[in-house]
Amino acid sequence: MSQEKGFVIWFTGLSGAGKTTLTEELAPLLRERGRKVEVLDGDVVRTNLSKGLGFSKEDRDTNILRIGYVANLLARNGVAVITAAISPYRDIRDANRRLIEADGSDFVEVFAAATVEQCEARDVKGLYAEARAGKRPGFTGIDDPYEPPLHPEVVCETGREPVAESLRTIVDFLEARGLVATPAVVR
Ligand code: ADP
Repeated sequence: MSQEKGFVIWFTGLSGAGKTTLTEELAPLLRERGRKVEVLDGDVVRTNLSKGLGFSKEDRDTNILRIGYVANLLARNGVAVITAAISPYRDIRDANRRLIEADGSDFVEVFAAATVEQCEARDVKGLYAEARAGKRPGFTGIDDPYEPPLHPEVVCETGREPVAESLRTIVDFLEARGLVATPAVVR
């Protein structure tokens, strides 16, 4: 049954684009619809699975490949996995896509498309101000690259639409793909 098929929702986007916010909304919604859900949040992974890794290209790639590896193990056992890491490099995201799809799971790349200007304007965690002050060298979008996806399954305009609208776009896609049940209509 397709609803038991594991899948990976792979968020990508700048710091402050809305990956964590949407993950926190999406996870309980998927659980309500009967899915087992695991979340791999970039900041959390860096405190355990990837503890000790920095922000060089090599370390960033290692971090993202680790997240992809674990996501694949979970998804092939029927889990709905959500990853929320900047994942700035296209080739590494695509490598994870290939790994996950080769094992029969769906890979749903969701681009949180807020621009640097939009993320910096809200600077939720104060990180952009620190990056501009030179306290965070190699900050994605300021002095480190971000490669937007070319063909993401879902694009959320997280810099200029409400959270509920971004969430709706993702859920609509998952329902249309048959990855989550549509809610029962209450009459
Ligand atoms: P990230 O995990 O990508 O670093 P966060 O989720 O921590 O980003 O922060 C995103 C911020 O943007 C939050 O304060 C959130 O409320 C706000 N925001 C505004 N609109 C949206 C949207 N459409 N989707 C997600 N977050 C949004």
